[in-house]
Amino acid sequence: MNSLAAKKSISTYDVYQHAIEQFSHYDNERYHYLDSAATSQKPDCVIDAVTQGYRHFCAPVHRASYPLGEAASSAYETARARVAQFINAPTSQLIFTKSCTEAINQVTLGWAKSIIKPQQKIWLTRMEHNANYLPWHQLCQTTGAELKIIEMDEDGCLLLEQEEIWHESTFLIALTHCSNVLGGENPIQELCDKARAQGIYTLIDAAQSVSHLPLDVDKLACDFLAFSAHKMYGPEGIGALYIDVKRMAEMSPLLMGGGIVESVDEQHIVLREAPYCFEAGSPNLSGALGFAAAADFLQGLPAAAVSQYVGELGRQFRQALAQQGNVTLMPIAGGGEHSSVLSFTVDGVHPHDVAQVAADNGVAIRTGNHCSHLLLNHLKVGALNRLSLGVYNRREDIEPLIKSIKLATEIFT
Ligand code: PLP
Repeated sequence: MNSLAAKKSISTYDVYQHAIEQFSHYDNERYHYLDSAATSQKPDCVIDAVTQGYRHFCAPVHRASYPLGEAASSAYETARARVAQFINAPTSQLIFTKSCTEAINQVTLGWAKSIIKPQQKIWLTRMEHNANYLPWHQLCQTTGAELKIIEMDEDGCLLLEQEEIWHESTFLIALTHCSNVLGGENPIQELCDKARAQGIYTLIDAAQSVSHLPLDVDKLACDFLAFSAHKMYGPEGIGALYIDVKRMAEMSPLLMGGGIVESVDEQHIVLREAPYCFEAGSPNLSGALGFAAAADFLQGLPAAAVSQYVGELGRQFRQALAQQGNVTLMPIAGGGEHSSVLSFTVDGVHPHDVAQVAADNGVAIRTGNHCSHLLLNHLKVGALNRLSLGVYNRREDIEPLIKSIKLATEIFT
């Protein structure tokens, strides 16, 4: 793949032109896929990497000494190194999981549960996806720790100055980098800097930012960072968790099973070193290869240009929606103007009806609570329409959406 990142000067439109060539199955004349926050389309290099996994490396990982088995193990570890490098993490501090959800559960059940004390506080934001809310809720229910919510203002900015957040009773702050409903960007660098200075642990849910914002865990200095491959143009069924080296030493495996032990007898088990002790069961080799190919794909597109491209396109969608007299737009998290995710309602038309009319017209948008019950309760809405953008979207996707909204309005009001 020739890399756009290597070019000296690029316009944001170059991002689209360079990217679209790599989605050969995606017919952007007939179809307008505006649901990348749920799962992104996959470029050819990812599809090829997954198939190559099955064609050329189909053997058990870390379990066989014959040449094909060794090739499979080596390909899997190379994939780990590439994904780790993508977020600037040491290879040994990145574990593969089934998903971002599993990665967060590894933190709550494999680490926090054994060291948190009753009355210590876990702070989350009101815009967390259930993947970063329910595990902490369950942890607090079972340990006597206290769940606290960081509020936000009406522009979508987190109210991080509340003194209580920075109190010595705070154990950890777990928050999303970008909301899956409000888009935008939360100030994670500032937050992690302040938290580390005060001995508060941090977990960043990067599921929605990893596709378009640069992530550097060395600079960020968070304790944990979780993400899924399928939201960054990679395959389903695989995610990753970055773990700070000190936290890793305190962590136990979420799953017990094959592949994680040095020795076992009736009294004792001796675990393998990290990261292997955290990956019980047969590893997902093809998924890992596709994940690494997705990291390569994104590294070929400079992150700043990708975020500018999808952000600028998001602004154009926002303007077009704002011009419709009957559309109410939700704020953007962080209070910015640019976001690749936008949520809205259409006056007098149920979001499910809007999405259905859009679907009938070749436009894929989402409807529902987006697994963000806390946020929707706060916004006092039962359901929202959401559009979310990928590098294969373009201005030409706006008109079909607007037409669908007008048609839904005609039919249902
Ligand atoms: N966090 C956020 C912000 C999400 O949007 C999602 C999924 O939509 C998740 C976590 C969970 O990701 P997965 O379903 O891949 O585990």
